[in-house]
Amino acid sequence: MAAAEARGAWCVPCLVSLDTLQELCRKEKLTCKSIGITKRNLNNYEVEYLCDYKVVKDMEYYLVKWKGWPDSTNTWEPLQNLKCPLLLQQFLNDKRNYLSQVKKGRAITLKDNNKALKPAIAEYIVKKAKQRIALQRWQDELNRKKNHKGMIFVENTVDLEGPPSDFYYVNEYKPAPGISLVNEATFGCSCTDCFFEKCCPAEAGVLLAYNKNRQIKIPPGTPIYECNSRCQCGPDCPNRIVQKGTQYSLCIFRTSNGCGWGVKTLVKIKRMSFVMEYVGEVITSEEAERRGQLYDNKGITYLFDLDYESDEFTVDAARYGNVSHFVNHSCDPNLQVFNVFIDNLDTRLPRIALFSTRTINAGEELTFDYQMKGSGDISSDSIDHSPAKKRVRTVCKCGAVTCRGYLN
Ligand SMILES: [Zn+2]
Ligand SMILES: [Zn+2]
Ligand SMILES: [Zn+2]
Ligand SMILES: [Zn+2]
Repeated sequence: MAAAEARGAWCVPCLVSLDTLQELCRKEKLTCKSIGITKRNLNNYEVEYLCDYKVVKDMEYYLVKWKGWPDSTNTWEPLQNLKCPLLLQQFLNDKRNYLSQVKKGRAITLKDNNKALKPAIAEYIVKKAKQRIALQRWQDELNRKKNHKGMIFVENTVDLEGPPSDFYYVNEYKPAPGISLVNEATFGCSCTDCFFEKCCPAEAGVLLAYNKNRQIKIPPGTPIYECNSRCQCGPDCPNRIVQKGTQYSLCIFRTSNGCGWGVKTLVKIKRMSFVMEYVGEVITSEEAERRGQLYDNKGITYLFDLDYESDEFTVDAARYGNVSHFVNHSCDPNLQVFNVFIDNLDTRLPRIALFSTRTINAGEELTFDYQMKGSGDISSDSIDHSPAKKRVRTVCKCGAVTCRGYLN
C-alpha cells in the first residue's frame, strides 16, 4: 500500500519501503500509479527529477532520478539527451532560490566554479523535489477524500515543510465513542417553495437564513435551520446551502510570516457566502479539558467549544479535520462563525459553518477569529472560562490594525 494511502484515517501504515514496493512491481510487471509505476516507465525510463549538475570535458551533465526507480539507480545524463524542459527549469529555479536565501543570510557571494554544484545546493534541490512530490500526493489524497465541489490545492514556496504527519481528512463530524449524532431529522417541510412558505426555520421559531442570492442575511449568533432529508423540497431549495459543502477552490499554502499553513481562496467569494464547515472529532467538554492540558499552544487552538446552548461538547480538529484545520486566526477576520442545524436538531450539537463577512478576492488568505469559537462573546470573562486555555498565551501574528495581541 502506498504511503499516501497509508496516511488515511482507516488505513494501516505499510512497513515496506517505497523502493521495495517499486522493485516488487517491476519484477511482477505490475503498474501502480500511486507508487509511480506506470506503463510508461515499467519498460522505459522517465525522468522524475534532476538531482545534480556537472561539466566534464565541456559537456553538461545532470544527475537523473528515474521515476519508479530507487535513488541508487540514478545516472548522469548529458544535457542533450534530456527531454524535460519543465524539470530543468524547476532545477534552475530551486538553485536560484537557494542561492538568494544563502546570500540574504550571510551577505556573501557564492561563486559557482561552473564545473560542479556545491553539495549543499544539490542537497537542497533534491529535498525540494521530494517535497514537491509529497505535497502533490497529499493534494491528490485530499481531493480523493473530499465530497464537495471546490478543489483543494497545496502549495509551499516558502520552506521545506511537507504534508502534516498526523492529520486525517474528514468531511463531517467524527463523534468520539459514546457520542451519537442523529442523522435523520424527525420533521421535514412539505413546501412547494421554501423561500416563501412557512418552512423549517419557521418551525424552529427562527427566520430563513438566506436571501435569493444564497447569501446569509441573519445576524451572527442566530442559528441556521436548513431543510433536511425529510423535507419534500429538492436539492435546489434555497434553504440548502451548508449541506452542499464548499463550492470554491481553495489552496492550503505555506505562509511567509511564520503562521505555518494557511488557506487562501483561488476564486472571488461574494460577501455573506458560505465558504466551509468546521469539522473534527466531537468530544465531551471534560475530554476537551483533558486534551487541552496535554496539547501545546498550537493544539489548543483546534478546540472549538459547541456552546450554542449548552457546554457539553467540543470539536477537536487537531488530528481529524477538513480544510478549516489550516485556516489561521485573525483579529480582523473575513470569515464569521454560524451554528447550523440540518438533520441533527439536537441544540447541544450544532454544525459550525464559516461565512464570508465581505467580498474576498482570489488569492486572499481566509481567516476567522479563534476567540469567536463558541458563544461569540469575546469579553475577558469568557476567555478566562477555561483554565486549560489560559495557562499559556500565544502571541497573535495576524497583523490587523485592531490586533488584540494574543490568540487566547
Ligand atoms: Zn420548506
Ligand atoms: Zn424543509
Ligand atoms: Zn426546502
Ligand atoms: Zn491579532
